[in-house]
Amino acid sequence: MPDPKFTKPWHGIPREEIDWHPTINEDACIGCGTCVTGCSRLVYRFDYGKNKAVVADPLNCLVGCTTCSNTCPAHAISFPPLEYVADLLSKAETHHHVEDELVERKEQLFWREEIPDEEKVKHLIVDSIEKISDKNMIITLRPKSEADCTCQFTPGQYMALRIPGKDWTARAYSIGSAPRKDGSFEVDLRRVEGGRFTTWAFEEMKAGDELVGIGPMGGFWLRSAPGTPLLFVGRGTGFAPIKAMIEQQMEFNPSRNMMLYWGVTDTSDFFRLEKLQEWKQKNPDMKIVLTARTLSDGFQPPEGILFRQGTVYDALASEPAVLTHWDIYVAGPTKTVRSVLDVLRNKGVPEKNIYTDSFGG
Ligand SMILES: Cc1cc2nc3c(=O)[nH]c(=O)nc-3n(C[C@H](O)[C@H](O)[C@H](O)COP(=O)(O)OP(=O)(O)OC[C@H]3O[C@@H](n4cnc5c(N)ncnc54)[C@H](O)[C@@H]3O)c2cc1C
Ligand code: SF4
Ligand code: SF4
Repeated sequence: MPDPKFTKPWHGIPREEIDWHPTINEDACIGCGTCVTGCSRLVYRFDYGKNKAVVADPLNCLVGCTTCSNTCPAHAISFPPLEYVADLLSKAETHHHVEDELVERKEQLFWREEIPDEEKVKHLIVDSIEKISDKNMIITLRPKSEADCTCQFTPGQYMALRIPGKDWTARAYSIGSAPRKDGSFEVDLRRVEGGRFTTWAFEEMKAGDELVGIGPMGGFWLRSAPGTPLLFVGRGTGFAPIKAMIEQQMEFNPSRNMMLYWGVTDTSDFFRLEKLQEWKQKNPDMKIVLTARTLSDGFQPPEGILFRQGTVYDALASEPAVLTHWDIYVAGPTKTVRSVLDVLRNKGVPEKNIYTDSFGG
């Protein structure tokens, strides 16, 4: 019998709607019993006559667990692909259910003090909002007081932003500009369908609003030896940390050997193209390739900048330069980062030369 203790809804989804349970290849099963006694949720029983394990209560199985498959000496147990679970988790309702539970059970679940490091908590004011399209905008945040200054950070890092008065956990946003004396910085925002923070930002946020920032955080920063050529690959707002890195290089080492690939969905998603032109003027040898799956508004790339229709990883696959001695910085949605890594591996780029920043999604 399914045990109600184990068949509760999973992050808000009724358990019976989720097709996750082990399947035994009876021919391969050698009847060792490891899965039967090892699963504490009584998914299995043992057929003492046939000397085989049996999946008796599949709904008792913990969604996403594959322990019994990992420990089966005969490799007789299989599960649906883990992408099935990833897809369930990528639904806004599931994600928000997890987030709401974190808030509700905070007393029980908290690990450290609420504020990890006073030094890292900044009160930030929305200084300006620049709408690029329905889906993209650039906001500038400035420190509320001197103590809130984000003057010291390494380009590539991010801030976790929280909206005062909302019980949501903080969201990570890359700092999209090199350090400035006044502590202000840009954030490039992409609207996510059903997303809590970005829906608020696109529909309600106005200049003068206050946000709480935790940071700067993250280990995605330029760590290459001087003189090493640098390839930057960004997808969507993955361009933000790269923009901050290149901006800094343009200040201190503008003639460095650099190359940029930046891909978006539609050409209307590009922003700050004037920056690219500025960089090209400072470093005429810098190769810049823009990619988009679709074109709108009679898009023409700025002078000297290349454009390829399609994905950023397909464009990169056609890059004729030998990249094995380049350091490569990749930022954007996890799936794109993975595809870019595949391309780089095929090109023989050693793993140690690649640095990544995955945004999720
Ligand atoms: C290190 C880091 C840096 C980031 N930098 C930026 C940045 O510079 N600009 C920017 O716009 N975003 C950035 N993000 C993504 C950002 O943190 C949020 O995840 C995103 O803005 C969605 O927040 P939300 O509250 O609107 O959506 P949520 O309410 O958190 O989620 C709603 C739905 O969208 C899905 N989802 C969550 N995040 C993403 C995503 N990134 N892409 C697609 N679907 C998603 C969820 O699974 C859920 O189904 C970064 C993420 C990381 C980890
Ligand atoms: S662990 Fe594998 S071999 Fe052992 S009883 Fe279970 S399915 Fe059969
Ligand atoms: S995956 Fe985990 S919960 Fe599911 S049957 Fe195996 S051990 Fe039990």
